[in-house]
Amino acid sequence: MFTDSHAHLTCDPVYPELEGILKRAQEHQVDTVINICTDKISLQRGLDLAERCKWIHNVGATTPHDVEKEGGLYFPLFEKAARMGQLVAVGETGLDYHYEHSPRKLQQTFLSRYFQLAVECRLPVVIHCREAFDDLFAIAQNDFPKGKVLLHCFTGTLEEAILALERGWMISMSGIITFKRSEALRAVVKEVPLNHLLIETDTPYLAPQSKRGKMNEPSYISETAQLIADIKGIPLEEIAKITKENAQSFFNLG
Ligand SMILES: [Zn+2]
Repeated sequence: MFTDSHAHLTCDPVYPELEGILKRAQEHQVDTVINICTDKISLQRGLDLAERCKWIHNVGATTPHDVEKEGGLYFPLFEKAARMGQLVAVGETGLDYHYEHSPRKLQQTFLSRYFQLAVECRLPVVIHCREAFDDLFAIAQNDFPKGKVLLHCFTGTLEEAILALERGWMISMSGIITFKRSEALRAVVKEVPLNHLLIETDTPYLAPQSKRGKMNEPSYISETAQLIADIKGIPLEEIAKITKENAQSFFNLG
């Protein structure tokens, strides 16, 4: 059984297809999905969904892309959900200097605010980081030195992965590792210890190689898991089991 540690099930492009997606997920041995809520509507849908599907758990925050437009507007909603125990982590928050859709300073401000919220609510944090690891490490050192951190959809260098592992952080790999040109990332996978590894689809983005161009969904997770199994030289079932245990421990899933 697989755990998809990062999927946007309740965002607009996915939500209309949700019933079929959930059915196919179950048919493909996905028995846990971490749903990432990034705004008011996806959070509301996520809370309703978790009520009826006990195998789906919510995480929430405004993404670093959107903090300029929506950061202040939606922070109170995520704060309330976190304080009410409706989230298993805060996120995805972080820094994206590649696209820089919001000013860097503002991304840093919200990252700090979400770290603070996680400290107060004793929650782990799911991080989106692109070309911003120096600042991420510095802010985390200051604001979240003892907290649990998961780097979602890791695309950094081996050096950055090692720095994250030294901090005890977890690393989640997406379908990007199955892309033809991802040699460097596959070399990173090889070095990340199994007890720090999670897998995700990042639905609806980043469908794995054999499904490229399609909308991604949790039922496609096995392709990423299989690639990791091949790299590590262990059976697929073992990767499924270990990444599930890592997710259960990280998100404190009873
Ligand atoms: Zn995401």
